[in-house]
Amino acid sequence: MLATAVKEKNAYDVALENFDLAANALGLEEGLRAMIKYPERVLAVSVPVRLDSGKVVRFEGYRVQHSTMRGPAKGGIRYHPNVTAEEVKALATWMTWKCAVVNIPFGGGKGGVTCNPKAMSLGELERMSRRYASAILPLIGPEKDIPAPDVYTTPQIMAWIMDTYSMNKGYPVHGVVTGKPVSLGGSLGRNEATGRGVFYTTLSSAAHLKIAMKDARIVVQGFGNAGSIAANLFHQAGARVIAVSDTRGCIRNAKGLDIPAVIAFKERTGSVAGFPGAEAIGPAELLALECEVLVPAALENTITAENAPAVHTRIIAEAANGPVTPEADRILDEKGVFLIPDILCNAGGVTVSYFEWVQDENHLFWDEQDVNKQLEKVMTRAFGDVLKIHLDRRANMRLAANMLGVSRVAEAARLRGLYP
Ligand code: NAD
Repeated sequence: MLATAVKEKNAYDVALENFDLAANALGLEEGLRAMIKYPERVLAVSVPVRLDSGKVVRFEGYRVQHSTMRGPAKGGIRYHPNVTAEEVKALATWMTWKCAVVNIPFGGGKGGVTCNPKAMSLGELERMSRRYASAILPLIGPEKDIPAPDVYTTPQIMAWIMDTYSMNKGYPVHGVVTGKPVSLGGSLGRNEATGRGVFYTTLSSAAHLKIAMKDARIVVQGFGNAGSIAANLFHQAGARVIAVSDTRGCIRNAKGLDIPAVIAFKERTGSVAGFPGAEAIGPAELLALECEVLVPAALENTITAENAPAVHTRIIAEAANGPVTPEADRILDEKGVFLIPDILCNAGGVTVSYFEWVQDENHLFWDEQDVNKQLEKVMTRAFGDVLKIHLDRRANMRLAANMLGVSRVAEAARLRGLYP
């Protein structure tokens, strides 16, 4: 990650600041702000785990329910060394507005364990996941709070959490988590959903800006799940994906990369670096390439005050959560870059998680075409709703998306009233 000379705020401060901006633009009354701004519940848990060596170590875990105003809390679980209570609170807050933007009947939640899963064996990961699931068990449930995968958590980990919950209940409860393996009540199309949502919202943006997709130049930072699937859909649509990257390297081909071949190469070698038929470039050079669409699909804070001035794109499609810092936001806004904010752009994942929960609760499963068709409908409608606020209220796209999310949660709070 690039260092920046400007001190950037922590994620939770950014989340609170974005809320205030949206609430001010909406003229929201103080009482409603007090009801919806802060997390409803924050749980910190101790997670002792016996390692393969026999030694017992303790990890710190969290589950935050930011809002259950519009429905059960919904949000992933992250395993990463940088997980903190503040980060989990920020991610849970974003989930609230994200679910409201795509208008699915969920609130926002998030969980995390501060650990380095790359240094753990499968057995250690299973024991940690089950112990963490036991510790947060009082909070979760299909009607209360439904976890899902996030950074470094997988369908297998969701299966262990589902099993731990079910063993405690005494019967199988599929709807307690989403992002499960398909053989265990997971949804077809869930794995591709985030990348698909990025693709659909970019198509809508391009249509709005009158940019043709044929031969449009696309740059993807972070060729993982979200990035590679979006890249492949752009490639199939006739666009030219001219550069992609991962932690080990960046590759470029001005004529357009053969994306299915890059995916196969990465599956074989573990990285895009060294792909034949492309030149190696540096990470700063990748972000500065002239293109129509730049897709940051890696982690938070990759586009900063330091590198934003060099960005040379018409559209930024935020596949990652929080890839553009507030300082960089202001710079890009001044340059006239059209931003598809994360809470809209990457909401395809939680949308198909909602479809998975609906299928689990009904014990009736859809085919992949139905999932994709419904996803396209939800994403296109949400894009239209945000664009309308952007145009009517002259709000930038990030503010417009936050205004939409916050206004829907505020409406629910107003109708439900303040208990007691
Ligand atoms: P992933 O682990 O599959 O992929 C991330 C990729 O980014 C990897 O290829 C990694 O090598 C690369 N990367 C990391 N740091 C980088 C850097 N500094 N420069 C270039 N490449 C870098 O993860 P993912 O599931 O695709 O998630 C990516 C982002 O999308 C995260 O911010 C995540 O929160 C967000 N997101 C994912 C989903 C989903 O359903 N997968 C849903 C919503 C949001």
